[in-house]
Amino acid sequence: MNWDRIERLLGEDVLAYLRTQTVGIIGLGSGGSFVAVSLAMSGVGNFILIDNDVMEETNVVRHAADLRYLGQPKVEAVADLIKQRNPEANVTTVVGRIEDHLDMMPQMDVVVAGVDKEGPKYTINEACIKYHKTAVYAGVYERGEGGDVCVIYHDEGPCYACWAEHLREGLSDPTPNGVEELDYGMIGPDGTLAAEPGLWLHVVRVAATQADLALNYLLEDTTVHRQMPANTLVMANTHLEIYEGKTALPYTAEWVTVPRNPECLVCGHLHRVAEAANEQVSLDELAGLGHIAFEDDDEQEAKGS
Ligand SMILES: [Zn+2]
Repeated sequence: MNWDRIERLLGEDVLAYLRTQTVGIIGLGSGGSFVAVSLAMSGVGNFILIDNDVMEETNVVRHAADLRYLGQPKVEAVADLIKQRNPEANVTTVVGRIEDHLDMMPQMDVVVAGVDKEGPKYTINEACIKYHKTAVYAGVYERGEGGDVCVIYHDEGPCYACWAEHLREGLSDPTPNGVEELDYGMIGPDGTLAAEPGLWLHVVRVAATQADLALNYLLEDTTVHRQMPANTLVMANTHLEIYEGKTALPYTAEWVTVPRNPECLVCGHLHRVAEAANEQVSLDELAGLGHIAFEDDDEQEAKGS
């Protein structure tokens, strides 16, 4: 393999560093498969691929893998594509659902959520909080009219539950049964399900951003890291009303800062305290404990000193 051009761009040290990094990609459909191949072509050395699907004929027009891979698990198809680009890459494949393979999470340096449905995204979110992992999520809107990508950091900002509540207000039902049914890529403006997937070329615009933001996170401590203006990028592929009164022109994008919800039950302090204590304490019990030394107290002390 000749990495001269990437090396000239990133530098020898950065490329060597990327070879040590591990990207976990959960969901190897249209977006996830594109992210996997793109990161392999950018010098990332290690991959953990998790998906329980098999390549079917209907996937071929919207997937990095083609007819040669029909009938194979998507993770195996994508592992082969990675090896064709970077034979030295280490690829671990898991045919299954993330819920059953959370033990793989600690090995990941960054998590790419390639799943469409909201249910598995919430599972990934909770696992990321537990294992202190940063994850990059992407969503493609109906008919590929646009999409969004967000970086959910392990140490600051909103968790995915805060984020989704803020950005998908009125569209997502936070009950476990509700979220399992939802695929916001197929939710129409009136909240009804409209199974109209987008064209591959519109999906990969969103996926390319997801790959880039995952790569940028890995490069955080290097000279080629770029500071992004916010945690969320909303992209329009056509004239798209991003939010009320704001219509974006085709191929434009807008950065949006989604704040953390201090009341969030998933990433809330009480939850973290319970995690840290590693005890089975109910939220009611914790609330009854009164004052607890939260992280913010330490931060204030640090700033005050
Ligand atoms: Zn949260």
